[in-house]
This record gives sequence, structure tokens and C-alpha cells, in this order.
Amino acid sequence: MTLRQTVDLASNRPLAYDLDDDQRAILDQADRFARNELYDLAPRMDAEEWWPEDAFPKIGDNGLFGVTIPEQYGGAGLDLFAAGLVLQGFGRWNHAMALAWVAHDNLCANNIYRNGDELQRRKYLPGLCSGRKIGALGLTEPGAGSDALGSMRTTARRDGDHYVLNGSKIYITNGPVADVLLVYAKTDRERGPHGISAFIVEKGFPGFKVAQKLVKMGYRGSQTAELVFDECRVPAENLVGGENRGVAVVMSGLDLERAMISPLCLGVAERALELSVDYAMTRKQFGKAIGSFQMVQSMLADMYVQVETMRTFTYRTLAAAAPLEIGGGGRGDIHMLTAASVMYAAEAVHKVLDLAVQIHGGTGYIWESEINRLYRSIKLLEIGAGTTEVRKMIIAGELLKDLKRHG
Ligand SMILES: Cc1cc2nc3c(=O)[nH]c(=O)nc-3n(C[C@H](O)[C@H](O)[C@H](O)COP(=O)(O)OP(=O)(O)OC[C@H]3O[C@@H](n4cnc5c(N)ncnc54)[C@H](O)[C@@H]3O)c2cc1C
Repeated sequence: MTLRQTVDLASNRPLAYDLDDDQRAILDQADRFARNELYDLAPRMDAEEWWPEDAFPKIGDNGLFGVTIPEQYGGAGLDLFAAGLVLQGFGRWNHAMALAWVAHDNLCANNIYRNGDELQRRKYLPGLCSGRKIGALGLTEPGAGSDALGSMRTTARRDGDHYVLNGSKIYITNGPVADVLLVYAKTDRERGPHGISAFIVEKGFPGFKVAQKLVKMGYRGSQTAELVFDECRVPAENLVGGENRGVAVVMSGLDLERAMISPLCLGVAERALELSVDYAMTRKQFGKAIGSFQMVQSMLADMYVQVETMRTFTYRTLAAAAPLEIGGGGRGDIHMLTAASVMYAAEAVHKVLDLAVQIHGGTGYIWESEINRLYRSIKLLEIGAGTTEVRKMIIAGELLKDLKRHG
């Protein structure tokens, strides 16, 4: 797939990105599917933290899982940009399902594809790509959030042809319903982040349990859990990427995850703008549509600017992250760019939703309204996949990396 690019004549460098015909078709397909199949599920998911069991197999049957995974393993054989477009389309119509999708398709399946061996790929990817198996990724712990690597307490010790895992993970998306989990644990406690390994854990392995399903403020219906590993026996062949090699898997995966959170913010913001324009045209006060008042027009114009700048930055970042080599990232320009993109998108969607609720007046404050559901989604995107503060630390760390050398 090639990107149509606008060129800055002065520097001869690409300035902006737009979608080519293939990419437009992917976004349209995801948008259509989500509008027809996922949108009607959203109110009940939000009201009850309900998980619609039929949704994942349906997504799989429509070829919308395994976007980045080659066809020989059941995937679509496309790239990260295409995956981002699927997420953008889903985010418009059911952002909770979009979150479940990204935890499954990007954090779990794509990570297993990139870092797993041939046996692991053949064993786990077809089920994940078909949506018959649900994937999750377990990094965060009760005592290890922003400092996920340094403070990690979950351990894995070798015992014959198994590893034995002990510890717990928290806030794990898809945790309550997952069949296959990519889990990080310390195999060498003395070596800090360089003593971490990644394992594929199946829900039926002895010693694994879902300790509790967590109830959230937004993204309700995407399932979130605390997981416990109590002498959990994992076959040694389920070690991913080699013993004590987990840090490369995490860091590379986190850059891709951050590139992928931006299109989710974009989809939510696009829908909020659409709802707000509709409302401004239909709601009447003082005998006129509220859209005829300049202060309402000003809010819509501000929202439009946020959405368009999000789009440009999101696509630019996806284009830069798509060719990332296996194990690449975790430092340098791509590390900084992905952190900046998600930081910007999360702050922009926050501003867009704030204005959208303002335009909706009292309706926007009512829990059951769609705009209120979207509003309650914004905070997570400033917390998950590294908080805004962590993103700033990454950006400043890269900008100032010579500071250490120069004292
Ligand atoms: C709904 C949801 C879904 C999630 N899904 C997953 C998942 O699927 N898998 C997974 O592994 N994790 C998941 N997470 C976890 C998420 O990545 C963490 O919540 C996040 O990294 C922050 O960690 P924490 O919550 O422990 O906050 P803390 O690290 O305790 O941070 C608390 C506050 O302190 C600030 N802070 C911390 N350190 C510094 C510092 N050095 N300088 C300045 N400020 C600092 C933070 O920015 C934040 O404002 C999910 C979280 C949520 C809420």
C-alpha cells in the first residue's frame, strides 16, 4: 500500500498524508460493519458492563481480526495502518468493542505473531484471527503501573518442562473472557527489566484465575479484570521470545499500542462532532436552531480543527510505525512520535467531548445519551498505554537524551 503524500516544496519532505483507495475501502468496511453490527450493542454494554458473546466470532467471520497477520495463520496480511483504520471505524460506533478489539488484535495476536516462534504462531493465531478465541495482554500489576517493568512482582521459575508463575495483574482488558493471554513475569529478579520474560497463558492452565471483574466509568462492556497466578504451570514451549527477552517485546509492543490508541480517539471524536452538528441543526431555542448562534458555531469550528489535526497526526504516526522491524522501537524517533501522537489524540478527544456535551446541554449530561457515553470514555485515553505524564517523560527523555552524556 502506498500513501498519497503532499510535498513541502521548500524542504521536499512529505507534509501530510491522506488515504489511498485501498485504505479508504478498509475504513469504509470497518465503519459499515461497526454501524450495522456493533452500534446497537453499545447501550446495553454501557448500562450493564455486558459482554456480547457473538460479537467476536462475527468480527472474525467478516475478516476484521488478524489484520496485521499473514493469511497462512488466518489473518488479512495487511499492515498496522490498516489495523488503525479498522479501529477508527469501530471507535465511531462502539468504542468499548473497539478497545476489546485492540487488546485482542494488537496487544495479544500481533505480539504473538511478531515475537512468537512458528509453533506458537500455528497453535494460537488461527483461533485468535477467527474470533473464536479471545486474547489479552497482562503487564500492569497492583504495584506496577507507570513503572511496569521496574516494579514488576510477578515471577516465573523454571520447573522441568514448565515455568511456574506467581503474582497478579490488574486492569487487564478482556481479562474476564480471555482464552489466550500474553503475560509478563520476572524470570531473573536480579536483572531488573532485563530479567523479564513473556509467556502465553491459556485460561485453563492450573493456577490461573480471574480474581475479579472490574466495573468502570467508561468503555463499559469492554471487560476488565484482576488476574491471579497461583503456582500457575505454563509449558516451557509457551515462553515467547526467549528467557529474559521480555523487555524488547514490551517496549516494541508499547510503541505499536500507542500508535494504535490514536485512531480510537479519532473515531470517538469524529462521532462526537457528527452528533453535535446534527444536534445544532435540530435543537431549537429562541425560535431558531442553536446552530445559528455564533457561540455554538465557534464550538463546532474548534471541534473540527481538533478532529482534523488528530487525523493528520494519527495517520502520520501509523505510517511511521507500520514498518517497525520486529523488536524495534522502545527508543528513538518512533518512541517519541508514538508517545506524542497518543498524548495529543487523548487531549484533543477530551476537548472535543467537552464541547460536544456543552452543545448538547442537559441532554449531554444524561447518562443514557450517546454523547454522555462518549464523554465518559475520554479519561481512559489519558491513562492507559502509559499516562500523559509517562508520555511526556518519553518525549522529553528523547529530546534531552544528550543531556546525560554532556552532564
Ligand atoms: C480500563 C483500563 C484498561 C487497561 N488495560 C490494560 C491491559 O489490557 N493490559 C495492561 O497490562 N494494562 C492495562 N491497563 C493499565 C494501564 O496501562 C495503567 O493503568 C497505566 O499504565 C497507569 O498505571 P497505574 O494505573 O498504576 O497508575 P500509576 O502508575 O500509579 O500513576 C498514578 C499517577 O501518578 C503519575 N506518575 C507515576 N509516575 C510518575 C512519574 N515518574 N512522574 C510523574 N508522574 C508520575 C501518573 O502519570 C498518574 O497520574 C488498563 C487500565 C485501565 C484503566
